[in-house]
Amino acid sequence: MDATVLPPGGVVDVLVIGGGIAGLSLASELAAATDVLLLEAEPTLAYHTSGRSAQQLIPSYGPEPVRALTRRTLEALAAMPAAGRPLAWPSRFLLVGSPADVRAHASETMRDIGHAAARVLVPALVPDAFAAAALDETSVRTDAGALIEHHRSLAAARGARILTGRRVDAARRVGSEWLVRAGGESFRARRVVDAAGAWADQVAELFGARPLGLVPLRRTAAYVDVRNPLPPGTPMVGAADHSWYFRPEGGRVLVSPSEAEPAEPGDARPRDRDVGDLVARINEVTTLGVTGVHRAWTGLRTEAPDGVPALGPDPDVGGFFWLAGQGGYGFQTSAGMAELAAALLLGRQPPFPPEVVAALDPARLR
Ligand SMILES: Cc1cc2nc3c(=O)[nH]c(=O)nc-3n(C[C@H](O)[C@H](O)[C@H](O)COP(=O)(O)OP(=O)(O)OC[C@H]3O[C@@H](n4cnc5c(N)ncnc54)[C@H](O)[C@@H]3O)c2cc1C
Repeated sequence: MDATVLPPGGVVDVLVIGGGIAGLSLASELAAATDVLLLEAEPTLAYHTSGRSAQQLIPSYGPEPVRALTRRTLEALAAMPAAGRPLAWPSRFLLVGSPADVRAHASETMRDIGHAAARVLVPALVPDAFAAAALDETSVRTDAGALIEHHRSLAAARGARILTGRRVDAARRVGSEWLVRAGGESFRARRVVDAAGAWADQVAELFGARPLGLVPLRRTAAYVDVRNPLPPGTPMVGAADHSWYFRPEGGRVLVSPSEAEPAEPGDARPRDRDVGDLVARINEVTTLGVTGVHRAWTGLRTEAPDGVPALGPDPDVGGFFWLAGQGGYGFQTSAGMAELAAALLLGRQPPFPPEVVAALDPARLR
């Protein structure tokens, strides 16, 4: 039998719901060891949050379990074969703000560099926009589209089936299997992984699992035209109070107000007022001189109440596994989360210490 084709009515071992970076990186990892079916609601993969990120991986960003996952992801990305171009490359991150805010967010991969050195690195920063600065030289930039395609093609080559335009809308337990309905078809699976991003809690309810209290949070970003472009190699710069960030993007600049506003799951869109306020703010804190907005977009970063992703079996419902709540860390944690999820699903030794596995366990949220 061709490994990529399931027999009609056949039972798949693992059905992954969601074709974003989470679902695809798990599918590529898992397909080496078992049969995998991935169902994505939209006609295209990575249409929602995974198609809307800033593509930056910052080891000093996030709580400790996230940092552990990020460290592992950076190692994995460095080892991933790239078709023609690298999947990750150095892109320093400069944190600026009040001394208290910078101290609160600085971590082991960051070093204080002081106000004067920060202004040498980024002369476009207005001097009184910040008082302290710390630099993370281990930060990297990825190409989200290339990474998504890497996982899609690897998963397919390993025999995973990936179907788009299949929104899972019903499920029931039949004996030791799930009967899952999506796009008018039925699928049978032994285990289901919920990688449905902003919809993860809603999807869980279809399977009789209680929601974890995941909250989709709006975040807007834009490519803007500027009078005074940033030289290539300028670090990404972020305010330690999470009120803005910017980074050179070819001749343009990527900017964001770093907002985190609760929203319903859906196809989030930027609001004119937010983009206008963002441009005004960037013009206050820099000498870039924004002259126009090339493209603006909004995505939903979905977080658990404690800000740590939820990865592991549902504590109550057998055969239901969570891979959700990646918040603003979905790319930087992707390979680490996929490796850990695959190990737990396959009954292998987790590649992380017990305290990291426990910190991610969905049971902590009940
Ligand atoms: C502006 C912005 C900047 C960001 N910058 C960064 C960054 O620099 N670095 C970083 O690491 N992260 C960043 N993030 C966060 C990152 O993009 C997310 O953490 C990540 O994309 C989440 O991936 P996901 O696969 O969980 O969700 P998604 O990409 O949303 O994928 C979930 C998928 O599930 C599908 N789905 C939902 N319900 C169903 C159903 N019933 N049946 C079938 N399919 C279903 C959806 O259609 C969707 O495609 C940023 C996010 C935003 C918005």
